[in-house]
Amino acid sequence: MKLDTIIRGGRVVTAEETFRADVGIRGERIVALASGLARQAPPHTHVVDARGCWVIPGAIDAHVHLDLGTGRFRTSDDFVSGTRAAACGGVTTVIDFAHAERDESLQQGLDAWHAKAAGRACVDYAFHMAITNWDRQHREIRRVFEQGIPTFKQYMVYAERGLRSDDAAIFAALETLRDLGGRLLVHAESQDVLNLLIHRHHTRASMKRYGASLHARSRPHFVEAAAVERVIRWARATGGPAYVVHLSTAEGVDLVAAAQADGVDVLAETCPHFLVLDDSVFASPDGHLYATCPQVKKPADQRRLWRGLRDGTLCAVATDTCTFSRKQKDTWRGDWTRIPMGMPGVETLVPLVYTVGVRRRRLSIHQLVEKCCTGPARAMGLYPRKGTLRVGSDADLVIIHPARTRTVDWRRLESRCDWNPYQGWKLAGFARDTFCRGRRIVKNYQFIGEVGYGRFIPRTLER
Ligand SMILES: [Zn+2]
Repeated sequence: MKLDTIIRGGRVVTAEETFRADVGIRGERIVALASGLARQAPPHTHVVDARGCWVIPGAIDAHVHLDLGTGRFRTSDDFVSGTRAAACGGVTTVIDFAHAERDESLQQGLDAWHAKAAGRACVDYAFHMAITNWDRQHREIRRVFEQGIPTFKQYMVYAERGLRSDDAAIFAALETLRDLGGRLLVHAESQDVLNLLIHRHHTRASMKRYGASLHARSRPHFVEAAAVERVIRWARATGGPAYVVHLSTAEGVDLVAAAQADGVDVLAETCPHFLVLDDSVFASPDGHLYATCPQVKKPADQRRLWRGLRDGTLCAVATDTCTFSRKQKDTWRGDWTRIPMGMPGVETLVPLVYTVGVRRRRLSIHQLVEKCCTGPARAMGLYPRKGTLRVGSDADLVIIHPARTRTVDWRRLESRCDWNPYQGWKLAGFARDTFCRGRRIVKNYQFIGEVGYGRFIPRTLER
């Protein structure tokens, strides 16, 4: 058999099993998985030695925001730097959120996102479509769906930025996506109670006393839990498929688990920062840098989130990458409501789950593959083309040394962000080598790919 590349002698990991095999790649696909391929290889075949290493499927980060403008600011990472960061972190597909403004058509928003990514992405990419104005935009859902975008997003918060959907819009979107075979992604926080609490804390005296900790004080656990309850209610009532993005609380996991046990079609993801950080970060002098929505919670939440990954309640770890520089973050000047919300993440997704999850025995290596690769691929309609290692799948794969660590230092990461929430952490699990559709794009921890290699991947959900 003619092969272009053989990954030799690694421990190949899928969500179900580990086996020692060579991986044969021809063109963009995996065409063989067997031992001894390298021994029979003709001289022109490129052989990459993976002995002593894990070979996992390229990870899928189903939640990134690259080249996002928020009005005041633009994220430091665009599709070039963000996908270089992805590659070095072992992520070979990112899914970004295309937005249409309230007065725009969905198509205008989608076209704008295609323009941001086309010719610039270094790994493959796809889009979810955010719906910000149901009355104006809902007629276009089918047309967007037919362009390979089966997942739509609504925000239960951010009325002030014109992004909020009310319960009627969520209910109607679930019905529509049920009928089309799509899925609704929801940012679940309860706007009205949240606003009341923000308003209550928003005094000079309080801000002076508590600083960035007010971000956590004004977003207690029930702000998320109440919204998750409502999403589940509407998913149950409509039979529409829901997916809770960036779930951060133990209560949220319990609610989703109970709904799933009841047959409600609701999936959920969590993020690495919720798994490894807690809200004590807000008390540090750099506390405002860690502000995200929702924010990191308590150690007990971390434990329930890890358990939710193990028990299957949570199908994916995704990063919600939304990178703002220190200078942008510093414009808050003591008022937490003015912090640009978000953190870098895509580059450290797999290293964090590997180091804190697998190496500390919270997850098996199979569960890492399940939550970073196969689970998101299934939920987002990329499976089995992506998210697993099998003959016929795209040759998206990552070689990981089981123990070699790198110390996180923003100066040496691919992200353009000038700080990192995990600065100084020693993490194993960075990609030694990354292949995206058969092309080696990371070699010996260095990006060697090409701007514009990444391709838009149209998706269809499994029914
Ligand atoms: Zn997000």
